[in-house]
Amino acid sequence: MRAGTITLALLALLLPACASSPGPYRPSQTILRMPPVDYGPPGDARNPPQGPFQPNAYLRTCPGMRVSNAPPLDTERWIIDFKPIIVAFGVVLATAPVNDVCLASGFGLRNGRVHNGIDLTNRPPGLIYSGAPGRVVEARTSSGYGLTVVIDHGQGVYTRYAHMDYLAPGIAPGVALGFGHPVGQMGASGNAQGPHLHYEILTGNIDNPKGSFGLVAHDPFSFPAYAPVASPGY
Ligand SMILES: [Zn+2]
Repeated sequence: MRAGTITLALLALLLPACASSPGPYRPSQTILRMPPVDYGPPGDARNPPQGPFQPNAYLRTCPGMRVSNAPPLDTERWIIDFKPIIVAFGVVLATAPVNDVCLASGFGLRNGRVHNGIDLTNRPPGLIYSGAPGRVVEARTSSGYGLTVVIDHGQGVYTRYAHMDYLAPGIAPGVALGFGHPVGQMGASGNAQGPHLHYEILTGNIDNPKGSFGLVAHDPFSFPAYAPVASPGY
């Protein structure tokens, strides 16, 4: 009994302060099996192989944070009716392309300024994945966004991944990626208070004078859920 008590005391010391009341059930750890998505014929150069990412089924706001621009939450801060895979202007996209994160900021007005994406974070910082198949159009550092990647998903849809620590191997402009391919490591480069992913869903024509900054940002929580169509082959 005594040894057990000591073990418990040691465990309590080792547990981080933020995990003070995890509760008996932690649905954020539920990982979805990514359904086969019909992005086009196999072997097509525009349809590179899918990466290892499997999205989490649930998302909640970060403990101890009041996220003023979060979507509706239940009493335990889980996003009500969270849609892990969405369809944005015809593109099937991951809503949170990194595992076991919490939402640190939603989309829209925040302290009187418009936040063009969502902020997702975890400790230790996690690996960030491509939210949909596409081609890297930007992989560079800028003062505000830090180390950033922009991916072109076709149909005028883009995603931006900002504040990264470093890029995944092979990530460079022109490289084609499948869904869920590693893009880089979450970090705090640029104007960031701590390691997090700033993730944007953008539309428009990138061939404009402002480049990716001339695209229009959309709320990732505003899109309908992806509903895979049953196929005789699966
Ligand atoms: Zn942000």
